[in-house]
Amino acid sequence: MVHASGKVLVKAVATPEALARVLAKHLPAAAAGEAPAPAQGSVWDPPARPDKAGAHRALPNRAEPAVYWPRMPCLRCGCPWWIGEDWDAKCGRCGWDCETDGYDDDSQPVKTGNWRAKFEEFTAHLKQGKTAPWPPRNSVGKAARR
Ligand SMILES: [Zn+2]
Repeated sequence: MVHASGKVLVKAVATPEALARVLAKHLPAAAAGEAPAPAQGSVWDPPARPDKAGAHRALPNRAEPAVYWPRMPCLRCGCPWWIGEDWDAKCGRCGWDCETDGYDDDSQPVKTGNWRAKFEEFTAHLKQGKTAPWPPRNSVGKAARR
C-alpha cells in the first residue's frame, strides 16, 4: 500500500510548480523566506504561491533582491517583482517607476488612459502563475534595451 500511494504522489507532481506546491504544503519551513526562480519557466514568473505578496527573489540583472507584489504589477512590462517596498520602488525587470504614473494614491490603476486594461491583462497572467512576456513578441526588434 505504501508503494502504491508513493507512485500516485510522483505522478501527481509532474511539473516543478506542482512540486513546489506539494513541498510548501508539507514543509512550511521550506516555503518561507527566499523564493528561488523556478527550474523551468521564467525568473520573472510568480513564486509557488502567486497570491501571496512579500516573497524575495534574486534577479539576474539586479544587485538587490526583488520583492513580490502581485496586486501591483509593473504597468509597463507586467513584472510583479519590485526593487524596494516603497512608492519609489522600481520594476525589477524594466526599471519602470510606479510613482510617476499608472497607479493612484490607493495603489489602484488610474482610470484614464490604458492603465486599467494593462492592469487587468497583467494580473490575469499572474493568477495563472505566469508573468506576461516582455517585450511583447511583436516588438522584439525595437524594444531590445536593457
Ligand atoms: Zn516593468
